[in-house]
Amino acid sequence: MDTIITNATVVTVQSWDPVVLTGYDVLIDGGVIQSVAPTDPSHVEGAKEVIPGDSYLVMPGMINTHHHLYQSLTRGLASVQNEPLFGWLTALYEKWRYLNYEAVKVAASVSIAELLLSGCTTTSDHFYIFPAESGLRIEAVLDAADELGIRIHACRGSMSVGKSKGGLPPDSCVENEATILEDSLRAVEAFHDASPYSMRRIDLAPCSPFSVSSELLRDTLSLARSNNLLLHTHAAETIDEQNYCLERFKRRPIEFLADHGWLGEDVYLAHCVHLNESEMDLLVETQTGIAHCPCSNMRLGSGIPPIAGLLERGAKVGIGVDGSSSNDGGHMHAEARQALLLQRVLGGASAMTTGRAFRLATVGGAAVLGRQRLGKVEPMMAADLVMYRKDDIAFAGAVAQDPIGALMLCHPPRPDCVMVDGRIVVKDGHLAHIDERALASSLNDLVRKAFR
Ligand SMILES: [Zn+2]
Repeated sequence: MDTIITNATVVTVQSWDPVVLTGYDVLIDGGVIQSVAPTDPSHVEGAKEVIPGDSYLVMPGMINTHHHLYQSLTRGLASVQNEPLFGWLTALYEKWRYLNYEAVKVAASVSIAELLLSGCTTTSDHFYIFPAESGLRIEAVLDAADELGIRIHACRGSMSVGKSKGGLPPDSCVENEATILEDSLRAVEAFHDASPYSMRRIDLAPCSPFSVSSELLRDTLSLARSNNLLLHTHAAETIDEQNYCLERFKRRPIEFLADHGWLGEDVYLAHCVHLNESEMDLLVETQTGIAHCPCSNMRLGSGIPPIAGLLERGAKVGIGVDGSSSNDGGHMHAEARQALLLQRVLGGASAMTTGRAFRLATVGGAAVLGRQRLGKVEPMMAADLVMYRKDDIAFAGAVAQDPIGALMLCHPPRPDCVMVDGRIVVKDGHLAHIDERALASSLNDLVRKAFR
């Protein structure tokens, strides 16, 4: 046995219900949980590493279903701090056209560091901008994920309809469609690992209805389906997007996607803020995944998505922090808390229970990303674990009442330890293998030089 965590308080989900297991040992071997059982001294025999768990709450690593890791480069940009989505994007494209390998890798490393330090062990990344002449490829993100040790769904994103053809992005930020499809296939062949405990999958992800063509949506869908890949895009985020789709296509965003076959178990959509009743039913019927990004929706003033209503109908929902330029926090655990609070603004105090928020951040995200071996602390699940100290001041009082309530209602502290694939990536509240301050300084230097 590689590792055993002894006598811990484990908070997990059994079937669909959050549970608290007090005084349990978690046995880990080969990156996989082998046993979760009442503590017993015989369990430590032969273990290479013993972590005394008496002081810890142990929960499954959280799963972030939507991000743009490179956006740390333009986090907090002064000129767009008060802009809605379209104004915000229009200004940011002018910064993002200068992306290159180094900038994206450093920015992605910062974003991943924040995720790990907030209890997230798996992230999706929607990387959709490959400026002409930059030579930029998805490797910039994959290299950062490898170095920091996070599990990733790296979406090969795309934009092909520039301003001259009626799209929102400038022509300098869009790619030729043949190049997009060719490079998507290259990335899949080089990097996609479909195995159950895979650390790296490639999903395909045209950016939005206002930056790609019908042809690219259809070709991407057929490339994904012939290679068993997930599909991802933004949808129904703002009223501006809805108006764009109504004017240009005479369809609402979800109708537009449905017309292109873009709904189903292998599709997940970021936002889904502006839905009517029949669109909600359609997302549930097709089991299309939804990445709910509450902070970004608040930051850009996009609206409040009807998540409680979707969950009551049986929708497949996870949580996403969204890119660092529209959620300047990038904190996965805080995002789950924010999801709970925002639904209560919309639907009252019972609209989002603590158990429901816990599920969204763990098994909900695993379902959206089609990952049956993630999101729970139980045998045969990946050893992706987050350990919080029970005596952290942020939990004081609450943890003695109800550990699930403490985790979802209190302001989340830094975890003491985070494990991905059985390897410790956060230790004593800090990144185990990377100098956090040096990383932050590298990003600040890059921003000062080229992204202000
Ligand atoms: Zn996004």
